[in-house]
Amino acid sequence: MKIGIVGLGLIGGSLGLDLCDQGFSIFGVSRQEKTCRKAEKIGAVNRADVRLSLLVEVAVEIIFICTPIDKIVSTIEELKTLDLNPETLITDVGSVKSFVVRECSKLWPNFVGGHPMAGTEKKGIEAAQKGLFAGATYILTPDSKNSAEAVDKLSNIAELLGSTVSICSPQIHDRAVAWISHLPVIVSASLIDACLHEHDSEVLRLAQQLASSGFRDTSRVGGGNPELGVMMARYNRQELLRSLAQYRQSLDRLIEQIEQEDWRKLEENLKQTQGVRHQFLA
Ligand code: NAP
Repeated sequence: MKIGIVGLGLIGGSLGLDLCDQGFSIFGVSRQEKTCRKAEKIGAVNRADVRLSLLVEVAVEIIFICTPIDKIVSTIEELKTLDLNPETLITDVGSVKSFVVRECSKLWPNFVGGHPMAGTEKKGIEAAQKGLFAGATYILTPDSKNSAEAVDKLSNIAELLGSTVSICSPQIHDRAVAWISHLPVIVSASLIDACLHEHDSEVLRLAQQLASSGFRDTSRVGGGNPELGVMMARYNRQELLRSLAQYRQSLDRLIEQIEQEDWRKLEENLKQTQGVRHQFLA
């Protein structure tokens, strides 16, 4: 089967590496010539080009759009002007689904939203790696217009990548990922930012020297790709604000307990969070 990938970065490149290994013919499109050459060199694609028309010329059956979120809709608009075969199944990997699915399915009825829950804090084709999706959940957010065949096709590919498929509505997806993905990015970024407000340079230097596994774990997602963080906030604004408002309340409650030296309440809270953490990381 011929598969197209638009946007050969961390996710698109990683997808290409695994799908090439599975024996699919992969045709990539990326913005920069040098990215296309690199993708060919590392074996993430059989052939790549900066022209989207490549995918029409070789008649791919499925297209994965792996660009930043704000380029997904315009990619489909351009594909339409190129007379792409209407049977072509288009999907995306964007971290936000309500906006993407609403806009893309208006343009392309055979569009199924997707989101592999895998990634790293790095970006670009240099960060692409084999096996990135193995053991991860791959979310699909089909709507009533999508055929069962289209959903099955994508589910089968996700399973070949070693992922477990989960199906939900775009709205439920956005609300859930706000809690476990988008909120942590902002919380983690604000942790790094808060530390930088230490105005005694000797203390700051020592803190930087002493930072180890605890700081590495809690600051990892705040030190990731800024473009991705802005896209999450911009396109999942309402759900992110909802989770941040709750986070502010939770933080205020903990601050109050410490101010009031209410160690019993604080311990109760920390016991509760210790007890439920595994429920998020099963
Ligand atoms: P990335 O590493 O920055 O890759 C995106 C690539 O898209 C860039 O390398 C760029 O290629 C290319 N690009 C940009 N505009 C383009 C356009 N108009 N046409 C064609 N190619 C274009 O970002 P990423 O982390 O792979 O994220 C890509 C998508 O995956 C996003 O929608 C994101 O929400 C989603 N996602 C990310 C993660 C994660 O943890 N990173 C996880 C799950 C899903 P050039 O090098 O050619 O400029």
